[in-house]
Amino acid sequence: MMDLILQRAAAGERLTRAEALALASDSSVAQLHALGQAALQNRTRRFGRTATYVLNLAINPSNICDGGCTFCHYHAEEGDAQAYVLAEDEILRRIQELAPREVHITGGMNRFWPWARSQDLIRQIRAHNPAIYIKGFTAVEIARFAQDTHQTPRQILQTLQEAGLQSLTGGGAELFAERMRRQYCPTKLTPDDWLAIHQTAHALGLRSNATMLYGLGESAEELVDHLLRLRTAQELSGGFTCFIPLAYQPGKEQPDATTPSPRESLRVIALSRLILDNIPHLKAYWPMIGLETAAAALSWGADDLDGTLGEERIAHAGAARTPRALSAESMQTTIRLGGFEPVERDGAWR
Ligand code: SF4
Repeated sequence: MMDLILQRAAAGERLTRAEALALASDSSVAQLHALGQAALQNRTRRFGRTATYVLNLAINPSNICDGGCTFCHYHAEEGDAQAYVLAEDEILRRIQELAPREVHITGGMNRFWPWARSQDLIRQIRAHNPAIYIKGFTAVEIARFAQDTHQTPRQILQTLQEAGLQSLTGGGAELFAERMRRQYCPTKLTPDDWLAIHQTAHALGLRSNATMLYGLGESAEELVDHLLRLRTAQELSGGFTCFIPLAYQPGKEQPDATTPSPRESLRVIALSRLILDNIPHLKAYWPMIGLETAAAALSWGADDLDGTLGEERIAHAGAARTPRALSAESMQTTIRLGGFEPVERDGAWR
């Protein structure tokens, strides 16, 4: 039975919920190897022996946030020693220095970067960098802008698109399971609202990413249901470009807490490739899982390693021990270490 499911998954056939759950529920070593083999066949059928990366810059305007998510070690309160607020000229200067092909903008929810200033930042980036790909804001930030200005998310998205935004980021999805949200982010945007904002963006012609936080004790059912909700949403609106599983990062002050093991990360990546059959790209996010695991993940279903980043702040506010940035050469070396041929892409995957 399991062999048949894996054969169908390797061939890119759609799995039922029962089949997906069967794969996710068996974490034995033998099953893990079979899962990896199926995911490798699936990704090779799609992408051959190539894997992509992008010269990009992560821009996080401020870490001050009143979101209250207990798993998040990035956010700070006003007045905290680690709280910061970047200025527009610092951001624009950094873009000038690094000349990335893509910017990825996301930050905390605070009074320092309200709607007017945030949309103006997009306009300024576009004015100074006509060719750059602008990916910015989580659905959570879009909802906050809408709430603060008594507009609809659609109006906010239209204004950002007109300013130069091309894609939403995938953050803020966390895990859709109600049990996990009650425990870790009870006041956050609901999964229905998160999905609705992405689907509104898709209807306007914007693209977006999707994410899933794992490593906080989620069950096989919770993981599978998260992937299936995304698969259903993609059937309807079709605008998700890439899926990124995000490994939980414990805080620096939590010596006993651990991030998911390489084995668990590879298992989640393989399951994502096999279950989420209609989101084209699957990213192994190296700041959170490490360079060696990211390289190995290319043989477990992933086809992209994200990018050079310039200065990663979110994972590194937790216990991440990876570099904060990589050179293009390091991205290429990492992909070759995994046994694949590196190909540089832009933000639109061209
Ligand atoms: S996850 Fe996002 S919304 Fe939640 S506290 Fe952290 S920065 Fe704020």
